[in-house]
Amino acid sequence: GACAALALALTACGQNAEGGSRDDGGGAEGGTIGIAMPTKSSERWIADGENMVEQFEAKGYRTDLQYGDDKVENQVAQIENMISKGHEALVIAAIDGSSLTNALRRAADAGIPVIAYDRLIRGTDAVDYYATFDNFKVGELQGRYIVDALGLAEGKGEKFDLELFAGSPDDNNTGFFFRGAMSVLKPHIDGGRLVVRSGQTELNQVTTLRWDGGTAQKRMDDLLSRHYGGERLDAVLSPYDGISIGVVSALKSAGYGTEAKPYPVITGQDAELASVKSILAGQQTQTVFKDTRELAERAVQMTDAVLKGGEPEVNDTESYDNGAKVVPAYLLQPVSIDRSSTDLLVDEGYYTADQLS
Ligand code: BGC
Repeated sequence: GACAALALALTACGQNAEGGSRDDGGGAEGGTIGIAMPTKSSERWIADGENMVEQFEAKGYRTDLQYGDDKVENQVAQIENMISKGHEALVIAAIDGSSLTNALRRAADAGIPVIAYDRLIRGTDAVDYYATFDNFKVGELQGRYIVDALGLAEGKGEKFDLELFAGSPDDNNTGFFFRGAMSVLKPHIDGGRLVVRSGQTELNQVTTLRWDGGTAQKRMDDLLSRHYGGERLDAVLSPYDGISIGVVSALKSAGYGTEAKPYPVITGQDAELASVKSILAGQQTQTVFKDTRELAERAVQMTDAVLKGGEPEVNDTESYDNGAKVVPAYLLQPVSIDRSSTDLLVDEGYYTADQLS
């Protein structure tokens, strides 16, 4: 109606351009939800977007799904555009967690609720809720896997060589993953049984801008030629499957993957198809499965509850301080997967048996 047409200017009417006031269950009137995802270069974000579209539509909403191609300015422009169109709510997986302050100020001024998806949005109080996985636990699972696979807990005194990779420095999850992994690895590094020959053990020395596999591959090439020569590397902490694939490529070029020189233990995250196949082929060793269908469901429930004037369910009100507020969060549980447990992905219907064969 007239109010809707003026919604951007007249937020006082309590309506937005798609019609439907926020507390009457806008879904029924088909309000539009803006969904801003970071990139299509990784399968998981494609699945996240599709799952949310499906689930929002099942609840009667319309959706506007945009991918930022891993370029911050694209994502900012997409979000500003969603606000201008008067979308009813925004669900955002940020490319750079600290780049959205101005855009989200406009969202708050227009009364548009914002849900941070998977990655925390930093430096603004204009983020209402956060749906994610237990990110510290993701890192712990990766670190624990390395310790167990090398048999470090058994205390035989043998030493192993390890190199560390972390995610994008502008992603709030990166520190959580790294600190989680180091909570398990650091005691063994300090105790001298895990040796990082490069000496690169600080987060700021091991990040990978935009989680780029090619960047990780170059760094791995470099580490191998500078520090390993003929010696075999035993383990690589990799935070994400796309990085693991880059690491495997560098190792392969350096002659790994033979009986005499088997691949190191290599962790990962997301259970992306290429990595699950790599695990089955004996290259990558482990990944962390985070069911994106469940995350989408959480985010959709949260958004729907906020729009209907309810209180979304949360299970963490302490861990995620974004610098401006502690954002109430719902944390889902990640699951470690290796060669012995890829069946779980089929049992859960995440992949078909054919896809993995
Ligand atoms: C997500 C991971 C993903 C990574 C790279 C992180 O923020 O939590 O699941 O592997 O981004 O896309």
